[in-house]
Amino acid sequence: MEIMLNVENLSVAYARKGLALDGVSLQLPAGRIVALLGANGAGKTTLIRAITGLLAVHGGGVTAGSVNFNGTEILGLPPHRLVRLGMAQVPEGRLVFKQLTVEENLQVGAAILPRAAVQERMEAVYQLFPRLLERRRQAAGWLSGGEQQMLALGRALVAGPRLLLVDELSLGLAPLIVESIYEQLKIVGDTLGTSMLVVEQNARLALEFASTAYVLERGRIVLSGSATEVGASDLVRQSYLGSQ
Ligand code: ATP
Repeated sequence: MEIMLNVENLSVAYARKGLALDGVSLQLPAGRIVALLGANGAGKTTLIRAITGLLAVHGGGVTAGSVNFNGTEILGLPPHRLVRLGMAQVPEGRLVFKQLTVEENLQVGAAILPRAAVQERMEAVYQLFPRLLERRRQAAGWLSGGEQQMLALGRALVAGPRLLLVDELSLGLAPLIVESIYEQLKIVGDTLGTSMLVVEQNARLALEFASTAYVLERGRIVLSGSATEVGASDLVRQSYLGSQ
């Protein structure tokens, strides 16, 4: 099985804070969706930052380990190089450009594409999220939270990434909206074969959506396996799914 993302023994520390990740290993097979579960402060966002080259901006640094993306060692590469290699991120908090229109936001995501490909890719995103098509001339700041999340996803998807990193998609959104966004993402995975690493507070949803899951506690992976196995474990049932 081809491995798209291979994190090996990764340790990360923040200045004056000690280790936030302690020997984390995680494999994401090509075309799969992997969920990363963990309580607040477990280190989920830190892992995403380490993969996307954004640790230093947050005062963190890798102290050990490696991250291989599709055959290339990527630790230390700047984010724009990662985009060119086929990685895209939907950051926590959505972070769309509020003054720009929906279409302009998508164009930002499409900036690395050859000109001739832009229109087709934009149309594919509009097909996935018709709401964005209806609102394409509106400033992103006027969209609802759910629509902004669709736009953030659309902006990440428009370039046709091989790996999509999604951080806390459900934060502050109504459950029905979250579910419909996940359904669209599932279609993306099924039709384009996009690999995804999904950080999600809502364990139930994440385990439904993903094929494999990892559980992070205090900077360490304490459990991993198929989503079904992880969902059936005592640890996850008691601590993350709220059942006995
Ligand atoms: P959440 O669900 O709350 O986002 P998380 O699992 O994503 O939590 P991280 O944000 O990765 O967790 O935090 C892991 C640990 O690193 C925590 O102890 C946190 O306080 C610490 N941490 C995170 N960012 C920084 C930073 N910029 N500087 C110092 N410590 C940080």
